[in-house]
Amino acid sequence: MPSTRDYYEVLGVEREASADEIKKAYRSRARDVHPDTSDHDDAEERFKELNEAYEVLSDTGKRSNYDQFGTAEPQQGFGGGYGYGDPFGGGVGDLFSVIFEGMGGGGRQQVRTEGRDMSAQVVVTLDEAYSGVSKQVTYNRVAPCATCSATGAAEGGTVKTCPVCQGTGQVTSARRTFLGTFQSVAACENCGATGTVVHPPCPTCGGQGRVQVRETVEVEVPAGIRDGQTMGVTSKGEAGLRGDRTGDLIVTVRIRPHEYLHREGDDLHARAGVPMTVAALGGEVRVPVFDRSVTVKVPAAAQNGDILTVRGEGMPRYRGGSGDLVVHVNVTVPRKLTKEQRKLLEQLAGTMGEVTDHSKLDRVRDWLGL
Ligand SMILES: [Zn+2]
Ligand SMILES: [Zn+2]
Repeated sequence: MPSTRDYYEVLGVEREASADEIKKAYRSRARDVHPDTSDHDDAEERFKELNEAYEVLSDTGKRSNYDQFGTAEPQQGFGGGYGYGDPFGGGVGDLFSVIFEGMGGGGRQQVRTEGRDMSAQVVVTLDEAYSGVSKQVTYNRVAPCATCSATGAAEGGTVKTCPVCQGTGQVTSARRTFLGTFQSVAACENCGATGTVVHPPCPTCGGQGRVQVRETVEVEVPAGIRDGQTMGVTSKGEAGLRGDRTGDLIVTVRIRPHEYLHREGDDLHARAGVPMTVAALGGEVRVPVFDRSVTVKVPAAAQNGDILTVRGEGMPRYRGGSGDLVVHVNVTVPRKLTKEQRKLLEQLAGTMGEVTDHSKLDRVRDWLGL
């Protein structure tokens, strides 16, 4: 029922009162006249009246309409269905737990009862990614309570639908004002907005049906997995409230870099030392790839930095087959030579017109006085 009293009078403020003064006045009066705490006979009526006044005077647009026309309603085009936030912004709001909503409004207060997915990480070597490996992952988990089998009830106890909210977790009340009908939706305090009540609660989990534990799971890392890929372990995430759906564990695989093998996609890159004679004449070198060695053919006249590809010798692929082994040629020169080898090389150099020892040339220059 619309109030006939002046809103400024109801709040006890001047017509020039600031938004802050209005809020303060409302808070202090709301404490006095709230039906739960006041012993006035007409507390409920006065509380409604106070709320009406506050709804209008705390809204700049409605207040200006009220000041001009004596009503909060705009003179035309008023659509209705607007919502109000919690006017208290916490604090006193907890006392009343009231959320004003327009008719048919959403914004329900509900407690999440399903468990969320959890995440963990596992680090493998490139060797392990190549062959596939079984790994143990240890993580902190909200797991189903073993004591009560996740029901939340102590032995012999019961779990019932909350009689106050009929399992919805919220209580709704309708309130008619001259602005329209408003629904107040509040979390059900009887069940903590969960919709169920346990009696007596499990001593281990306090009625939650879930507990914090350190858990270890075994994950199968498939051959060919890539760095950053994830694997889901069903129902190893956060347990739901009192046996509600449990989330999954999402494991991200990180691959430690290898000493000399470098992965690009499914290909493996390696630098291979190729002796200069093999580089010049052609031949083959062996490249160790994890636990085996791959024979790589080197064509004659191979140059430093040349790339030799061996098909199918890279990382395995999920859908069958493998990437390639990509060998980067690194021509090597012997560090030590026997007399004989040195002679042979000098002969070779001579036939190619190459000067191999500048000191000889220098001695000749000195002798000639050049
Ligand atoms: Zn329990
Ligand atoms: Zn309830």
